[in-house]
Amino acid sequence: MSRIAYVNGRYVRHSEAAVSIDDRAFLFADGIYEVIEIFGGKLIDEAGHLERLNRSARELLLKLPVGERVLKLILRELVARNGVAYGHVYLQVTRGAARRDHFFPKAGTPTTLVAFAHRSDRAAAEAKAQAGIKVISVPDIRWKRPDIKSTSLLPNVLAKQQAKDFGAYEAWLVDEEGFVTEGSSSNAWIVDADGALVTHPADSGILRGITRARLFEIAAAHQIRIVERRFTVVEAKAAREAFITGATTLVMPVVAIDGEKIGGGAPGPVALGLRAAFHGFAPASE
Ligand code: PLP
Repeated sequence: MSRIAYVNGRYVRHSEAAVSIDDRAFLFADGIYEVIEIFGGKLIDEAGHLERLNRSARELLLKLPVGERVLKLILRELVARNGVAYGHVYLQVTRGAARRDHFFPKAGTPTTLVAFAHRSDRAAAEAKAQAGIKVISVPDIRWKRPDIKSTSLLPNVLAKQQAKDFGAYEAWLVDEEGFVTEGSSSNAWIVDADGALVTHPADSGILRGITRARLFEIAAAHQIRIVERRFTVVEAKAAREAFITGATTLVMPVVAIDGEKIGGGAPGPVALGLRAAFHGFAPASE
């Protein structure tokens, strides 16, 4: 079965899918995106992701080319046409194709919508969670609007590659005052000495993760307290447990930071418990 992508109103073979070299995302990273988990053929937390897409669009004065009803149909069609039971759907909206100029294109220029789905290896993801991941800490050199899910990800890409080069999976970004903001593609959490979950407040400095938001509900059901406050790398290294959250990783235990073991170097019960509970709480599409 060949992979099928969606590009501006058409379903095309993934290998032949293309946008203009004048596209604003190609020239300026002038676009926004979302990644939604597919679990058992259903879209997980779709409403939250689409709400955030709308917010990103509003913040960047970008008009989505289709309404929510059509967007949902496209996502379902991609899941079906690609026969994805477990994986992710990626969608991106850009300010369209226009002669290169920093000014916005003239009114009426169609925005670009691209979406595709891919399968993931569930067994490999579970094995990774049981082993835990390593993270490194690097300076957060991003712009001041990480709350917008923009395709402008160069600092994130550089941080993630630095992690890989160090033999780690994720990079935790550290602000100028020494506090961990979030991961390069995930939110960052620790479990403190009292067993509370600690994560950076979402009012500024981070992307308000949809998985992060779901964790509030799961934690409450398990009588686990969440404290939204900043924490340093030093505090994280001394934490009982650490983990990351995101649509692609779900709840993923962290077992080392900068080569220093966390919680004895094995995934902790809190992180693994939250991971196991996740799909019992996150709403799946019809
Ligand atoms: N923070 C950043 C920088 C991300 O790129 C992501 C996901 O891609 C997240 C956090 C987690 O967000 P979500 O849980 O909505 O996937």
